[in-house]
Amino acid sequence: MTSVSFDSLGLAEPLVRALTAAGHVTPTPIQSQGIPPVLAGRDLLGLAETGSGKTAAFVLPILNRLGGLPPSPRRHPRALILTPTRELAVQIADTVDMYSRHLQLRTAVIFGGVSAHRQIQECRNGIDIVVATPGRLLDLIGQRAVSLHEVEVLVLDEADRMLDMGFIRDVRRIIATVPQRRQSLLFSATMPKEIADLVAGLLHDPVRVDLKPASVAVDRISQQVIHIEVRRKRALLAGLLCAPQLERVIVFTRTKHGANKVARQLTEIGIKADAIHGNKSQNARQDALESFRNGRVRVLVATDIAARGIDVREITHVINYELPKDAESYVHRIGRTARAGLNGAAISFCAPEERGELRDIERLLRHAVPTMDAGPWLQLSANIPAIVSGEVAAAAQPQAPHAPRQNRHRGRPPRRSQRRRAA
Ligand code: AMP
Repeated sequence: MTSVSFDSLGLAEPLVRALTAAGHVTPTPIQSQGIPPVLAGRDLLGLAETGSGKTAAFVLPILNRLGGLPPSPRRHPRALILTPTRELAVQIADTVDMYSRHLQLRTAVIFGGVSAHRQIQECRNGIDIVVATPGRLLDLIGQRAVSLHEVEVLVLDEADRMLDMGFIRDVRRIIATVPQRRQSLLFSATMPKEIADLVAGLLHDPVRVDLKPASVAVDRISQQVIHIEVRRKRALLAGLLCAPQLERVIVFTRTKHGANKVARQLTEIGIKADAIHGNKSQNARQDALESFRNGRVRVLVATDIAARGIDVREITHVINYELPKDAESYVHRIGRTARAGLNGAAISFCAPEERGELRDIERLLRHAVPTMDAGPWLQLSANIPAIVSGEVAAAAQPQAPHAPRQNRHRGRPPRRSQRRRAA
């Protein structure tokens, strides 16, 4: 196997020097596949998640292009990077700083939640690259603090997350102020219909680099589906969670409201659960994740996009309380378990009205998902308060689904561990 170097991708020497100083020697797949066509001026559709090295995949070609040119006379920005959150904006700007250390370029990072004063001042002083979240950038455009009419390269980072956070209309309004003759790069981990529409209107004959990582893990995940009416899903979930094998569980719902509701219902019956979704503040999300990671919370209830950044090892089970609308999201969801070489199990609840979604998933997987009977779990759920409080050990439990080859409690669940959890 020949390994590619940044040099051979066609990047200028000051960039290669900065990369070497940062210890980035070998390009990641999104970089080796994405950088050459972008350097050649093509539009790019990158299907990649955080952690893939996608930031450098768009930052390096931008720096390569702008670093070789004199600044525009009034120093209006020539590259615009839109991203959904303040944290990402800061991270991207740090990456720009790191790689542009041998270039004379100015970067501004613009996000809400802080005073706009400094950001306005920076823009007025002249900048080459803007990294921004959509809302605050629109404010500054409205105040004429920044003008985008000289933008040559536009990047939409984590486009699906911008959609989930309700930013797409703002994004479209911003794009309307950017010249049509430009290079556009769009990154997204999933491709829901709204993003596919955006891509069709925005990108011109794009190169597509597809690096969805979750698909790799699918064969290490035991998958089962339980056919169940919507009104009985709540009891089914409670029954399943009586099984101690379900040690660290992510439950997926379609909506933020649904996530809150399921987390509340679990908490009410004594199961430690929290919800994580786009309406929660960054701090609340961090707290929920930390509690999940250190085991204080056993069940994290999440929407698709919120779960994206979750990289918690040893998630034993993924439960699809509702099936996702698109089959690709199913693969992403179940990929939350079986991280870092471990195995995992995924259980999906399928209501009669969700059969179409199940069919799509099975078509994508190219096999049927085995079914499991709801009955025993529903019976168990009738006794929940006593089981959860430890008054009754769930001795007569049905066989819980488990991850292949690493089931620690085969057969009946050990009573001791049940009591320890309940304590
Ligand atoms: P990203 O997916 O852009 O958030 O990048 C994930 C992490 O990988 C960041 O900490 C980068 O600094 C790092 N990274 C990016 N490209 C490379 C590379 N070619 N070699 C080593 N680390 C890298």
